[in-house]
Amino acid sequence: MLLRPALRQWLRPPRNYVVAFAGTALTLLATLGWLGWRLLEQERDLADQRTRAQLEAAADVVTASLTGRLTETEAELSHIASMPADSLDAAAGRYARTLGADAALVLFAPAGIRSYPAGRLLYDPDQGEAPDRQPTVFEAAERLEFQQRDHAAAAARYRELARTGNPDQRAGALLRLGRVLRRSGQLGPALSAYAAIERIGSALVAGAPADLVARSARLAVLESGGRIAESRRGADSLLTDLYRGRWRLSRSTFEFYRAEIGARSAKGTWADSVYRVRSGIAAGAEALRDRWLDDASTPRTGRRVVLVSGGAFLLLWQKDIERLVGIVAGPAHFASKWLVESNAVLQRSDARLHLADGDGVTLHGASPPTGLPRAVRTPAESHLPWTIQVASAGTGQGVLRGDQARLLVAALAVAMALVLFVTYAASRAVSRELRAARLQSDFVAAVSHEFRTPLTSMRQLMEMLSTGRVTDDAQRDKYYSVLQRESERLHRLVEGLLDFARMEAKALEYRRDPLDLSSLIAEVVAAFRAELQDGRHTVVLSAKEDKLPGVNGDREALGRAVWNLLDNAIKYSPEGGEVRVDVSNGARSISIAVRDQGIGVGDNERERIFDKFVRGREAVRRGAKGTGIGLAMVKHIAEGHGGSVVVRSEGFGRGSTFTIDLPVAESS
Ligand code: ADP
Repeated sequence: MLLRPALRQWLRPPRNYVVAFAGTALTLLATLGWLGWRLLEQERDLADQRTRAQLEAAADVVTASLTGRLTETEAELSHIASMPADSLDAAAGRYARTLGADAALVLFAPAGIRSYPAGRLLYDPDQGEAPDRQPTVFEAAERLEFQQRDHAAAAARYRELARTGNPDQRAGALLRLGRVLRRSGQLGPALSAYAAIERIGSALVAGAPADLVARSARLAVLESGGRIAESRRGADSLLTDLYRGRWRLSRSTFEFYRAEIGARSAKGTWADSVYRVRSGIAAGAEALRDRWLDDASTPRTGRRVVLVSGGAFLLLWQKDIERLVGIVAGPAHFASKWLVESNAVLQRSDARLHLADGDGVTLHGASPPTGLPRAVRTPAESHLPWTIQVASAGTGQGVLRGDQARLLVAALAVAMALVLFVTYAASRAVSRELRAARLQSDFVAAVSHEFRTPLTSMRQLMEMLSTGRVTDDAQRDKYYSVLQRESERLHRLVEGLLDFARMEAKALEYRRDPLDLSSLIAEVVAAFRAELQDGRHTVVLSAKEDKLPGVNGDREALGRAVWNLLDNAIKYSPEGGEVRVDVSNGARSISIAVRDQGIGVGDNERERIFDKFVRGREAVRRGAKGTGIGLAMVKHIAEGHGGSVVVRSEGFGRGSTFTIDLPVAESS
């Protein structure tokens, strides 16, 4: 089947081999890439599994340690709950010392509520609101004060009423005296009246401790007297006492005085932060009180989480017949007392903890971002009041360590580079071999051709001569000389091929005889001229120096080299013209330049034409006969003599100059 020329051209080696190599390389690279990707995936899965196993183990430790802590605490509570009444207080106080800053132990008994450490409850959850009864003793005086506006008379009446053994009445009278004195502008005496209340001690005015009421009222007097700094100092110390739990107040009384005094005090920020924590404790205590009061449905032992403004508070309680002992523990207590062991484990596993209540509200830590590996323990599994989540603290990509991934990618990159390099090198080697094979087969064809032409003409001539068909002597002589020339050409051809074979086998050695180069070249040129019979070419020899320095070398080989250059000069000057042979000498070398006016040599072929079997494109296109070994031989001879050969050409059609440089003999 006939292939279309374009296709045949494409299929010709080595291009299709290059394509095959490129295909192989691409397949290999793709396979490598895929394998690498799989490997990375696998590594990531493994790392993921490792992380998950670590997280599971950490979650187990956290669960166990929290269970341990809770059980311990509950045992302690039950121990306290079962104590005889006389040692109860001491035991509770002792235990309370182990609690964190936002925790308290609360004890409910029929006698009332007690909290440990003392003063940690901002208000008493058990304290009901005092009935705001207006004592009737003050009615007459108050009429004088408010309806008749007789402040002096009212003051006198209050003073009188203050002279009594009943502390509550005395405090009530003094408080009203202070009020009326202030309203009538007698600030000094008003302050004295309030000071007198403070000295009474524990009296109640309208359900509130009299000294708290008096100290608070005093602030307003100071303020209206312009004694702002004094008022602020008073407010500061009063607020401190209020927050330290100096008085047992109901929640609403506490809130009222907190607002009243807080507005005048400079300790607002401190008070706010204490309030945040302690109101949580108080709210927890309130929740415990509900459990204490609701006797029927409250289990003996309990664990619950309550959410208040101060955060999530844990309630633990133990109930006895007579009492309920409970703990209210906030986030700080939790982190500093109950999570210590867990934190160490979490840190080691590069994990973080999140605790949420049954409704998913965060109690501790931050909720881990979705997608991160985690271990979860639900309340049903752990019997703890929280959902425990232990999640990787890394970024999510961190499951496969960065340096491992980098190493893997680097190894893959190296492997890919190697594949590329090997493929490239192999394809180059193969295409070079293929080219050499092609050149070799071209060479065989060319050699056969070289032989066939002279042999054919010789055979014809000999046939004519042997059959006696040529009768003319002159004609016969001419035929003989043609026969001789052709057989000499064949001889030279064979000699050349034999030399080439020896050169290939590295068995060609050159003699080192002292030579007179000018006479050698003159002889070669003369012999060449004698053979040259086309009449279109002239060969001009010009020796710049009469006497050239001596050269050591192989006469025959050097002669053949010059002959080859002359032969090429004629062959590649199809239009005819002058061939010049210039022999000149430099300091250490002698140059033999053969210049023609022929087809010239292209830039891209200037190096390659000295390789064996390589023929120029233009030469082949023009159908010039040749085997492609002539210049390879010239190069071998020049280099074998320690010299070199180069070509210079202005380009195609503008002639070329081949120059052999030979080193001058040492002795000359
Ligand atoms: P051949 O002449 O048998 O092809 P050579 O080795 O002598 O082999 O030359 C190699 C090639 O160099 C030639 O095919 C030709 O293209 C180029 N060449 C040699 N001599 C000349 C020249 N004088 N002018 C132009 N091209 C030349």
